[in-house]
Amino acid sequence: MEIITRQRALKEGLKYYFTGKPCKHGHISKRWTIGKSCIECTQTSRRKKMKKEYDSKWIKNLDNRKKKEQYYAVYYKKPEVIERRKEYNAKLEIKEKKKIYNKKYLDKLGPVEVTKRGNKYRRKWIKTSKGKFRRFIDNTSRRLRSGKLSKSKQALLGYSFEEYQERLLKGTSFSGLKEAYEFGYHVDHMVPLSYNSDTIFCKELQFQIAMDLDNLQLLAKTENHKKSGKVCLPEVQEAIKYLWTKYNVTL
Ligand SMILES: [Zn+2]
Repeated sequence: MEIITRQRALKEGLKYYFTGKPCKHGHISKRWTIGKSCIECTQTSRRKKMKKEYDSKWIKNLDNRKKKEQYYAVYYKKPEVIERRKEYNAKLEIKEKKKIYNKKYLDKLGPVEVTKRGNKYRRKWIKTSKGKFRRFIDNTSRRLRSGKLSKSKQALLGYSFEEYQERLLKGTSFSGLKEAYEFGYHVDHMVPLSYNSDTIFCKELQFQIAMDLDNLQLLAKTENHKKSGKVCLPEVQEAIKYLWTKYNVTL
């Protein structure tokens, strides 16, 4: 930093000057032209003061909050209040509003694996999906007209059941999983099986691509119905591109 004497700073109307000498707290920094005090010192003291103010305010707020809680604990138990709230909550437009709000909130929470509320559904899913996995593999195999699952085919998967579960949960938002439980869910192949079997000759490869972890996603039944068999969707096109390069498929 350039050395500017206080005299020069005064003459030129500068806010700060700089001598290069440490202050009594050892900071080598600029000083205020008016008052001569070190900038770092003034900053730290200001911060301290603000924190003190903030802390005292917070304590006051806490007192108020406790009072509020005590007040409302009594208030909400009054029979006329209970009746009024019931009426209010039963209104259709309020129900709609709540639904929209909840969905927004759940979407904000993000992926299932990081949220506490998601964990409840996660555990539920892990408990109930084991038998379904087996059936899902069988189904895929049958739909590709390559018969029931043999041992060699299971080896083709290249991943364990747990990995499969983790993967499906990863791509699902909490609201998605909740919906999936409300309406029932499907494990969906991003690339439709028919497209798979139309373009690839080798049966093993068909199966391998169909069951690739990158090709699977958890969908609520309602959603799956909407998109069924549409190859033109951009996300499907992307999946095709990705998987075809992964498995060296040339068309
Ligand atoms: Zn200082």
